[in-house]
Formats: sequence, C-alpha cells, structure tokens
Amino acid sequence: MNAPFKNLIAGEWAGGSNASRNINPSNTNDVVGEYTQGSAEDLNNAVAAAKAAFPAWSRSTPQERYDILKKASDEILARKDELGRLLSREEGKTLAEGIGEATRAGQVFAFFAGECLRLGGEMVPSVRPGVGVEITREAVGIVGMITPWNFPIAIPAWKIAPALAWGNCVVLKPADLVPGSAWALVDILQRAGLPKGALNLVMGRGSVVGQALLEHKDVSAISFTGSVGTGRKVAAACIASNPMKKVQLEMGGKNPLVVLDDADLKVAVEVAVNGAFFSTGQRCTASSRLIVQAGIHDKFVEACIERLKSVVVDDALKAGTHIGPVVDQSQLDQNLKYIQIAKDEGGKLVFGGELLKRDTPGFYLAPALFTETTNAMRISREEVFGPVANIVRVKDYDEALAVANDTEFGLSSGICTTSLKHATHFKRNSEAGMVMVNLPTAGVDYHVPFGGRKGSSYGPREQGAYAKEFYTTVKTAYTLA
Ligand code: NAD
Repeated sequence: MNAPFKNLIAGEWAGGSNASRNINPSNTNDVVGEYTQGSAEDLNNAVAAAKAAFPAWSRSTPQERYDILKKASDEILARKDELGRLLSREEGKTLAEGIGEATRAGQVFAFFAGECLRLGGEMVPSVRPGVGVEITREAVGIVGMITPWNFPIAIPAWKIAPALAWGNCVVLKPADLVPGSAWALVDILQRAGLPKGALNLVMGRGSVVGQALLEHKDVSAISFTGSVGTGRKVAAACIASNPMKKVQLEMGGKNPLVVLDDADLKVAVEVAVNGAFFSTGQRCTASSRLIVQAGIHDKFVEACIERLKSVVVDDALKAGTHIGPVVDQSQLDQNLKYIQIAKDEGGKLVFGGELLKRDTPGFYLAPALFTETTNAMRISREEVFGPVANIVRVKDYDEALAVANDTEFGLSSGICTTSLKHATHFKRNSEAGMVMVNLPTAGVDYHVPFGGRKGSSYGPREQGAYAKEFYTTVKTAYTLA
C-alpha cells in the first residue's frame, strides 16, 4: 500500500511501500487516511538531512526564524476549525476540544516566534583583571522528538516551536495512532519557509523509528512525552549512547484532586467531572484520584452522579457531545481491566463503566466513578488513562494532603476549598509540578512552564521561556582585553 501522506525528509515528501491506516475511534469504518510507516533507514536519512541543515539554520537571524514561526502560527489559527476537526476525527476528543487544541498550537508558535527575538546573554566582570566574561546560549543540535497520541497537535507544537526558535534542527516521530495532525503541522511549517532538513517527519513504530532515533549518534537531545515504561527505555538509551544525549521526559500521572468540607459544592463537582472525565480522561493531568473530606463526601458523590447523568458520550464530531470515545481497542481493554480490578479490590462502582452503543461502531465507554476505595488499591496507584476515577474518603486536610502526596507520580494536583489557609498550604506542600486551586488539574496556559516531579517527569520543564533550559546549551566565553 502506498500512502498518500508521506514522511518529510530533507524538504521532500518521501514514502515507502509500507503504510498504516489512521482509524476514527468514533466510527471504525471511517479511515482518516493512509500514512507512511518509516524505516530505520528513513530515520537515518532524516538525521543526515538535519545535520546538513544545522550550520545554516543555527546561524540564521532571529528575524528569519520569527517570520517562519509567525507565518506558521497565522496559518494554524486561520485553519483551526479544519485542523481541530481532523484532530477530533483521529483521536476522539470532542470538536470543541480539538479546535481548542489546534488554537493552542497556533498560540504556541506565536509565543515562540516572539522568543526568537528575546534570547539574550550576560556580560559578567571576571575575577581576573583585564578579562571579560560572556554567557550565551546556543542551539543544542539535532533534537529528536517522540510524542504520544493524546495531544496530536499541541505536543508536537510545544516541542517543535522552541526547538526551531533557538536554532535547532528537528526529527519528529509522532504517535503511530494519530499521525494526521502531526503531518498537517509539519506541512504548514515547511510551506512557511523552513530550509530543507531543518524539520523532518518520520512516522512509524516506536520500536523501529523511535528506537533508531534514540540510537543515532548525531542526535544531541531527545524530548519524549509518553508512558513511564517507554520513558525509562528512552532515558536509558540516551545515557548509553555515545556521546550521551540530553533528555527530557514527560510521562504519566495519578493526579489527586482534594475536596474539603468547606468547598463550594458546585465548583468542586464541575472541577472534578471536567478534570477526571473530559477528553475521555485521556490527559496526563486528569484528576483520577478524588480525595474527599468526610463531611462533604456523600453530598459530593450524589452531586457528581447527577452531573454525570447529563454528560453525553457520543461521536466526537457530533454537536452536543461532551465526551468522545476511547482512542482504540487496546486502551479500551486497559480501561475495562482497571474497572474490573477496582471492583475486585472492593471499590463500589456508583456510576458508568459500561460499554455504550452509538449510531456508529466506536470505542464508547460510560465514565466510571468508584467510591469506597483506599489509596493503597491499584486503582489509586496506577495510571488508567481513561474515563475512570475513584474517590478516597479522608477525615481532615492533613490526611488529604498526605494521601495526595502518597503516590510515585507528581504531575499536577488540585484542591477545592474556600479556605485561604488550606489553599496556601496545599500550594506550598503538594508534591506536584503544577497545583490548581478551585480549577481542574487538567487545563494549563501555553506561556508558562509545564511539567512534573517524581515519576512523572525527568529533565527540564517544557513550554514558556523555561523551555530554553532544554533547547539551548550555555556557553561561557572569556576574553583578555
Ligand atoms: P507510549 O509510551 O506508548 O508512546 C509514546 C511514544 O513513544 C509513541 O510515539 C511511541 O511510538 C513511542 N515509542 C514506543 N516504544 C518506543 C521505543 N522502544 N523507542 C522509542 N519510542 C518508542 O505512550 P502513549 O500511549 O502514546 O501515551 C500515553 C502516555 O503518555 C500516558 O502515560 C500519559 O500520561 C503520557 N502523557 C504525558 C504527558 C505529559 O506531559 N506528562 C502528556 C501527554 C501524555
């Protein structure tokens, strides 16, 4: 099968005879497109192209880079509805969420277009007479990017934009399940005027293309987002390679949302239902552990159930859908497995958890809410990555904080309270990279750092001006005047 959507290598669209079908999870009869499956040889060619492009691109002027990134941003924003539709069709998040994500990608490119113009350095007096010291930042080199399926355009955008802004060349390996949005983004950037080879796209399997990227000696850095298991392999390969690669990992979460007795019940329910179940719970920042104080517990559970009754699970592209399907059969199987595990552990399923039939064949699952769970159960400790959440009842704030922090993950956390004292204490003491007060644990701004602690993240933060810690390397130069 020859795919119409090919890899981009050295500025040319190149395809082998191997292709895979991109299937719509809302309607498995709908083929979004056929996409080339790259080989290790394609990857090697892409790295060679990036290497050839690097000397000129890393010395291009901030204005040249600004113009390209700004032009790409303008096109993404002008086409946000169409790109959002493609995204929702291939990934299964609702159209509103898909358009929102495409918009975010456009905003990310606008932000990093500005960053091209803002990179400065420092001049520092030396401790030695007659010597001047300059501290500057330079591009790292060729950056390999490996991305997951749940944010098909935003994650490639927030990796590619800073990499290019600071003069790096890029080889992107997007998730096998959702190549369409990444392909569209790369097409926009190439037409915005990037020199050949500055940005390359090699679609295909992680074990083939991803592995070859990790092993290539000319790749200087790897930015990875995905599961903890793959992340560990990525880090190990980066350290084993010669020279070693700089590495940045964004991985899973088991994000706690604390609801205290003094919370505004309406706010808490909206925050919990949105954070746990919207985007089908397929967000690394989803609130999958709801930690609820005893005094509000029963009212909160009852109000969540009422709220969930009004949530529409259906085709992602249909008007009125609040939650789309699960991304594919294997993720659905994983969700169902964890629903069974939670039941077997003694959790009480108070809402959902069953497969749903809709007009078209798709992976529809009713959001599942468990009560009577403890923080020791597997449902509280392992990432499910679907519309499944469980409630742990606690007696007071101190126990809530202890339970929230009792996890190997540390991506985001949240608290619903009207107490300034507890909100302040929680912000200071929650062991997470991002903390939300009266807001869902998922849903962040594009101009500030994103990332976590403990098992969720490794290496410098992504996004905002902080992204330069990863995408630049510091040089200290001494001059005798
Ligand atoms: P995954 O780990 O299965 O795959 C991620 C990427 O790694 C894919 O492109 C895949 O092809 C590639 N890959 C797989 N094996 C590889 C190998 N041996 N060598 C190189 N590359 C390989 O993750 P997924 O299922 O696509 O995404 C879901 C996970 O991503 C969840 O755990 C979620 O929490 C996490 N995630 C984290 C963030 C964050 O910023 N922290 C954001 C989104 C998703």
